[in-house]
Amino acid sequence: MSQDILIEAVGVTKHYGKFAALGGVDLKIRRNTVHSVIGPNGAGKTTLFAMLTGTGSTTGGQILFDGQDVTALPAHRRVQRGMARSFQVTSLFGSLSVRENLRVAAQGIAPGRAMNCWRAPVGDLSAGDTVAEVLQRVGLERLAGTAASELSHGQQRRLEVGMALAAKPQAIFLDEPTSGMGIDDLDDMKRLIASLRDQHTVVLIEHNMNIVMDISDTVTVMQLGRVLAEGLPGEIRSDARVRSAYLGNM
Ligand code: ATP
Repeated sequence: MSQDILIEAVGVTKHYGKFAALGGVDLKIRRNTVHSVIGPNGAGKTTLFAMLTGTGSTTGGQILFDGQDVTALPAHRRVQRGMARSFQVTSLFGSLSVRENLRVAAQGIAPGRAMNCWRAPVGDLSAGDTVAEVLQRVGLERLAGTAASELSHGQQRRLEVGMALAAKPQAIFLDEPTSGMGIDDLDDMKRLIASLRDQHTVVLIEHNMNIVMDISDTVTVMQLGRVLAEGLPGEIRSDARVRSAYLGNM
């Protein structure tokens, strides 16, 4: 595996009975890039995310992370290795402040199902320093004392990204981080995701094609559980097979 590659899927399959949600997916994700996975509804994007992050088990193939085979590792062990997935709004503690939510994530306190895999950060920074750094990165410093339930939808979604960042991951998986957002929030989230690649590898599922095309280094297009095309945003935009899969809606 090349040093340049952080995450690799090799012939990954996921069968539900006779139905193949993933029919043998090969994928290489380079370090410090934004790598988007797009495709029509039902293409297998969410299933692939589950296989990569360990929230679901494969029926065949291998997942490699930083040169190690992690295929058999459950999600919380993959988080310990440096893979973090952003949480849904429902995983935020509504009554706790933004700062307190981030502190929980940074300290590895397990508040239940969705966060039972956080680890305490090791090494350089204390949890307090980590929280201060994350607050600044997600642009929520002024709202640090505000209850999560009082935030706008866009702010809550940035806080979810912050919760993942607080675990100091090498790779961060974002599943439709802009869903339901208004235009101003979209721009903020777009800038935030693009900024992450300085320190992290970002794997993104996103339906907003403008965002995908603006910030991705590589785009993988899935269709019917397989990789249909992969390349630079410009290459994908002009790919006839991709345009046909999206019925020209790109
Ligand atoms: P969307 O953009 O709509 O979220 P997707 O690309 O993420 O779609 P998946 O959710 O990964 O697609 O689903 C891929 C296929 O696998 C779909 O046909 C879906 O119906 C099927 N599928 C997913 N989960 C299951 C399950 N638990 N049992 C049976 N089929 C499933």
